[in-house]
Amino acid sequence: MMWITALNAHVALTYAMKIVYAGNSSAINMFYMAFVFISYTHNISNVQFCRSVHISCTSACACSENCTNRPFDQEDKKVKVVKTKHCGWGVEADEFIDKGDYIIEYVGEAIDDALCEKRFWDMKGKRVTNFYVVAVRKDLNIDAQFKGNESRFINHSCDPNCIMEKWDVNGETRLGIFAAKAIEPKEALTFDYGYRLSFTT
Ligand SMILES: [Zn+2]
Repeated sequence: MMWITALNAHVALTYAMKIVYAGNSSAINMFYMAFVFISYTHNISNVQFCRSVHISCTSACACSENCTNRPFDQEDKKVKVVKTKHCGWGVEADEFIDKGDYIIEYVGEAIDDALCEKRFWDMKGKRVTNFYVVAVRKDLNIDAQFKGNESRFINHSCDPNCIMEKWDVNGETRLGIFAAKAIEPKEALTFDYGYRLSFTT
């Protein structure tokens, strides 16, 4: 708890509020610490998913190749990683993207909670401030720190033009970034990182 004193009052208060809710599970507490760390750095991709999982059609389905329910089979939209004025690296559209379009998959290493916790503390020790973990469910976290694509640079917004969705593709959980509204070329892509983390087990 020592390091918390180094954080500002807002973050400490947030932590205090969250820890009450977190109970005694060390894994869950770790996530709340990660959450605080993240809200402190404003550069993490921790997302609260609703319980619904989208089910993608697969080659096992009876539908045709023209089926529109296979987003991960589509080409990524053209996007560009750019240096922003106030938010470090960011991502902007490099073509028009229509509302509902699949843009890009959020890829990274699938790691369990123990490894996630280890990496979090390692990073903290090295004063690394970018944490690219999306907590999908217990013992499934997608970490884009070492292996990822442009999607990890998409910044947070409370009024985002993109949404992250969890999809079941052939029994595998995959994360997709979709357009929540029509997006013009050169427009910055954002999604709500979801500071209200839910770690029900
Ligand atoms: Zn289909």
